[in-house]
Amino acid sequence: MKVETSGLVPFTPTRRDLLAAGLGGFGLVVTSGCDIQSGQMSEFEKMTDSRRIIERKFPVKLYSQKEFDSDSRSNPDDPLPWTQGQLSMMEEFLELVPSHMIVPREGSKKLRYINADLGDSHSDHIIGGECCAQKTPNGYAMDVITFNSKSFVPGAKDRSKKTFVHEHAHRITPWNKIDDDIFNKEEEIWMDALGDIFHEPSREKINEVLQKHAPRAKTNAARSEDHFSFAYGLKNVEEFIAVMAQNYPSGRSFFIRMYSPYFGKAGSEQLLEFTTDIIFRGKKYH
Ligand SMILES: [Zn+2]
Repeated sequence: MKVETSGLVPFTPTRRDLLAAGLGGFGLVVTSGCDIQSGQMSEFEKMTDSRRIIERKFPVKLYSQKEFDSDSRSNPDDPLPWTQGQLSMMEEFLELVPSHMIVPREGSKKLRYINADLGDSHSDHIIGGECCAQKTPNGYAMDVITFNSKSFVPGAKDRSKKTFVHEHAHRITPWNKIDDDIFNKEEEIWMDALGDIFHEPSREKINEVLQKHAPRAKTNAARSEDHFSFAYGLKNVEEFIAVMAQNYPSGRSFFIRMYSPYFGKAGSEQLLEFTTDIIFRGKKYH
């Protein structure tokens, strides 16, 4: 299984074997609407309703960890259902990202989201989320993004947005084709795409270029979460792509400010253009 973790996670990410959970045959949403007696919707009913609206509007399906593990949905006693605040945020972020980032993998109808407790923190940095994919025994591609219920919250909206974009960036390639084998080839595909910018046709050299900046970035990492994420992104090409993606919706000046101290003005402009054209396929936020 390949697991990708958020840029907020330091260098030894927690790995969760989500594949231990069964697939298929999930029950339907049971309830919606309001209490006939009072005319008031309970919090649970509101949540269920909002979740269903999102699932109709976008090719995604939302689960709590408990639901995902047990193949049942909509249990009011579930300790970790999605909150209204999380769902509002989710809808906003789903509108924000370009549609190719949420296209379900070949062989699956929906991209799955899980709201789960991924722990408080790791080396003082909160774990944002995880993205993983693997072929299931019946041949379908499993496609799951897990959000940390502790950090994917409206009170930390900017961080939540960055986690959201980061994890989705792990699902894409420079081309439309997303197939079962993509997770074996992802790194080399991105290396080829980045080669021109770094003037390094050799794949191995690109990692060397990134790692050259690592000591300085590590020193700066304590300055803010964004600096920490930047340092994390130098770990390898896949994380570099995901961190550029998470920084991109914050706008041009933020992006250039983050990247130019390392890659120069011209280099950071090139990286921005690459992010616009190749990662976001032309979608602009600035
Ligand atoms: Zn990542």
